[in-house]
Amino acid sequence: MQRIENYIDGNLQSAVSGNWMENIEPATGLCYSEIAESDSADVDAAVAAAKSAFTGWSESSTEERSSILLRIADLILDNLEDLARAESIDSGKPLSTAIQVDIPRASSNFRFYSSAIRHFASESHAMDGQALNYTLRTPLGVVACISPWNLPLYLFSWKIAPALAAGNTVVAKPSELTPMTAYMLAKICSDAGMPPGVLNIIHGLGAKAGQSLVEHPDIQAVSFTGGTQTGAQIVKTVGPEFKKLSLELGGKNPNIIFADCNYEKALEATLRSSFFNQGEVCLAGARIFVERSIFGKFKQDFVSKTESLRVADPLTANCQLGALVSKNHLDKVLSYIELAKEEGGEVLTGGARVRLQGRCEHGFFVAATIVEGLDADCRTNQEEIFGPVVTIMPFDSEDEVVAYANSTRYGLSASVWSENLGRCHRLAHDIQSGVVWVNCWMVRDLRTPFGGMKQSGVGREGGFEALKFFTECKNVCINLGE
Ligand code: NDP
Repeated sequence: MQRIENYIDGNLQSAVSGNWMENIEPATGLCYSEIAESDSADVDAAVAAAKSAFTGWSESSTEERSSILLRIADLILDNLEDLARAESIDSGKPLSTAIQVDIPRASSNFRFYSSAIRHFASESHAMDGQALNYTLRTPLGVVACISPWNLPLYLFSWKIAPALAAGNTVVAKPSELTPMTAYMLAKICSDAGMPPGVLNIIHGLGAKAGQSLVEHPDIQAVSFTGGTQTGAQIVKTVGPEFKKLSLELGGKNPNIIFADCNYEKALEATLRSSFFNQGEVCLAGARIFVERSIFGKFKQDFVSKTESLRVADPLTANCQLGALVSKNHLDKVLSYIELAKEEGGEVLTGGARVRLQGRCEHGFFVAATIVEGLDADCRTNQEEIFGPVVTIMPFDSEDEVVAYANSTRYGLSASVWSENLGRCHRLAHDIQSGVVWVNCWMVRDLRTPFGGMKQSGVGREGGFEALKFFTECKNVCINLGE
């Protein structure tokens, strides 16, 4: 059975403890590989390797770092088929999603930051002939990057690419549920000429390996994407140490559809924003609000399109909805469907586990589910489900729907569908979320700031924001007087 080893100081190696954990394929429910179960001893070794590689890497030229990142981007595309297949098997997502989205976007993350670092300029503030200020930006040292399981290589690379570009050395931990493509990336980094120790990858449990990593005194900053509860735990650990911290957390995003929208576009995009990647997307439009005059028609058309989505073996070409990532997550999603019913919701379609035949008979599949008839403030509408379950409800006015949109503790993203320009601007201003999409969903420009308000996170990733996070700034003030 294949073993997923740690990558420390340029070497692939088992955990110091010699322990291995099972890695389950969600589509079959069977163990298909083993993961090094790391603890503080492995973290110590990885941080030590990163620390000794720091001087060389941080003092290397921008061009050198940029070229290595560019080679990684190219090698990811050269290995697209293998990486996409591995991602699909590891996470349960359709192979087509991994081919079209996850792996190309992982490559473009490296490509983007290989270029961005060449254009990253410091600021200068002149004081009317009296003094000149300029801002120096220097890498932080050894940083920790911790990523979740839903978009494994895509979000892993979204953190490590800017961290490395800025001259830091990295100890990274992918989710224990989806470690395979991070493991494969280790070889790609070596092949691209990344010096040993610059990137180190630790596998294992979040509560053990992840916790040891964020606790380590030589870690200067933590960039974390994951659940809000885990984010709170990390804040408790690193807050008193005053380490730099970037948190990308959960969401319960509103998808707001006005009667004057482009109906077909809104319908198609709603299908995607509800069920893309089995709804396991922090940006999923989990709460759908439809203006009352078109509510009945929209609901009918949406249910009918949803019922045509094919749940199938993720490795087959006709799969549109794959497996959920784990048995635990399957149980969580099913428990929310039960909760929705207890809270008075009517399941319009879906609402149950799907049993496939053959290879996938024990897989963790759930039918795309739409629930109607719930209040905006019930638990189903307030808590993140992170699966193929959405709610739909009517609204009558802009003020009412803005209040619904802002009623959760989250504030990650929102979509607004309307052809009324003024209204779109008003809602974009009033909705409390880090990203507002108008007449689109999940359109991504790597230069833009990305992140959430309220309990969806602290700080922003993307573009120069990430390079600013991964550097320390120092203002130098030169007296221009006599
Ligand atoms: P978790 O919070 O469970 O885990 C995220 C990562 O943190 C994993 O690598 C996990 O390891 C690790 N971890 C867990 N406990 C600790 C700890 N005490 N110290 C350090 N690391 C730890 O999230 P999920 O993986 O379940 O991902 C789903 C969540 O991520 C959802 O809430 C989703 O909204 C959010 N998310 C947010 C995004 C955003 O950009 N805002 C994007 C994508 C997802 P392990 O898995 O091995 O336990």
